[in-house]
Amino acid sequence: MPSIFVRPGVIEGFAGPMKSGKSSALLKRVDPLRWIHGKSFIGFKPETDNREKHCRSTENFIGWINIPSDNPEKIFEHVTQTHDLIVIDEIQFFNKKIVGVILKLQKLMKNIIFAGLDRDFRGEPFGSMEQLMFHTNELTKLYAICNQCGEPAYYTQRLIDGEPAPYGAPIVSIEGKGKKEEYEARCFKHHIVPRE
Ligand SMILES: [Zn+2]
Repeated sequence: MPSIFVRPGVIEGFAGPMKSGKSSALLKRVDPLRWIHGKSFIGFKPETDNREKHCRSTENFIGWINIPSDNPEKIFEHVTQTHDLIVIDEIQFFNKKIVGVILKLQKLMKNIIFAGLDRDFRGEPFGSMEQLMFHTNELTKLYAICNQCGEPAYYTQRLIDGEPAPYGAPIVSIEGKGKKEEYEARCFKHHIVPRE
């Protein structure tokens, strides 16, 4: 279990499919630090058009700062010496520069805590998550409940007009083009990605 204290130079991560409680786990980890460390933390989220469709937004005490998903280096415009804990939610939406950003924050002896979707709808690494998870010192993998059978769900099922999205569908949302798009948590058996 993660420490309740800030740990300089340590990267902690929560990864899993949709509906696995990643953001809640992140907030639960950070919450006690409010009382111990005061306002020494700062939180970031990527700014994307389709974020709300992928993740429930969380009302919370962090006061998230939105950072363009294609320019995660802007995080450094906000981080000061007094911040010893850097919190990042929905980290999978940042482009690959996020890996360098995280490693630089670690060099600055920050404690970094992130949450992100480990897999895209195809079941493959989402964005830079594979690399990020490698660099993570303490990784917690979470699971949801399969909405077909009730078993642990490690995958995110994408449905377009109620049908499993084919492998070739774009990763980004196609909603707004007359199609209804939904996401469900599924176990391996029930995670379906048709190859066209
Ligand atoms: Zn299942």
